Amino acid sequence: METQIKKLDYEAVDMDIIEEAGRVLKEGGLVAFPTETVYGLGGDALNPASSEKIYAAKGRPSDNPLIVHIAAKDDVYRIAKEIPKKAERLMETFWPGPLTLIFSKTDLVPLKTTGGLSTVAVRMPSDKIAQELIRAAGGFVAAPSANASGRPSTTTAAHVAEDLNGRIEMILDGGQAVIGLESTIVDVSEEKPVILRPGAITKAMMEAVIGPLEVDQAVLQADSGIKPKAPGMKYRHYAPRAELTIVEGETERVIAEVNRLTSQAELTGKRVGIIATDETAKRYEKGLVRSLGARSCEEEISRHLFEVLRSFDETDVDYIYSESFETAAIGQAIMNRLLKAAGYRVIEVGK
Ligand code: AMP
Ligand code: MG
Repeated sequence: METQIKKLDYEAVDMDIIEEAGRVLKEGGLVAFPTETVYGLGGDALNPASSEKIYAAKGRPSDNPLIVHIAAKDDVYRIAKEIPKKAERLMETFWPGPLTLIFSKTDLVPLKTTGGLSTVAVRMPSDKIAQELIRAAGGFVAAPSANASGRPSTTTAAHVAEDLNGRIEMILDGGQAVIGLESTIVDVSEEKPVILRPGAITKAMMEAVIGPLEVDQAVLQADSGIKPKAPGMKYRHYAPRAELTIVEGETERVIAEVNRLTSQAELTGKRVGIIATDETAKRYEKGLVRSLGARSCEEEISRHLFEVLRSFDETDVDYIYSESFETAAIGQAIMNRLLKAAGYRVIEVGK
């Protein structure tokens, strides 16, 4: 199959292209598209054959459910059975935006889309191209991140093409995704709302609206044998080819330790990549140094994380050492992805 790549301009979205992409989805095909979080791999959420194609294109295990994207708030009532008051308040405050909510599902949603679960994950993206595409496709688009299963999520159309070229009908190119990390996921299907995945909508932001929230144990620690509530969290994720280790502690000590580890590895003929920040990049003496942006700007770090992880796969580095990040605000989402990418390998050098 030849994948068509169509460039779109947010200032003047070409509706002919949107209509064409909508038709592809209605006919059961797949279209990758930009959202404010990461690129999504879209299929008609109400068509089980489309969901099957999504799993096949990504190489994703079929028990890992898909998020259903809508473009009108009221459409949630067609796919979710019970919508608790707290969920309504979250929707009023954060939709459209990077927040996914989990409800018990209606019969309209095929089990293929929810990985066999009786619940459905729903999000209304704020991205204009995503909204137009969802409307053109009939209102319900299942879209996991548009990457090959296991690889870092995609934040540009070029990354999508790297992983999915020849496997899907079309890619809509809207430039670089603004947030760069996937949506926050909150399970509101049970009495107490639980954060299953951190994202740009933080715990504090939601607590200001609905009061205390729990955080699923799988968020910042390695599998402890506890079954994670979001099935996707049990799979190896985001991992670059090289072995990634996070070095955590006071900045000067981190720099010293990374320099030491790098020299040591290079002595044995190994190549090293370093994930740094603008403030520290020049302090690393050896290795292939890539900066995520200014440490003082969490948004910059989150926007570039997946791009930098991916970029090391095009090099011949054997090891990657990364700085660590505070887990305040969106930092928790950054660390959640980085820890998974590192297989929870962390070296503590002290504060
Ligand atoms: P992705 O779209 O690639 O970011 O992956 C979607 C994430 O949402 C995965 O981690 C899924 O396990 C999670 N998810 C989707 N639907 C549900 C659901 N009904 N219950 C729990 N987690 C879900
Ligand atoms: Mg994903």
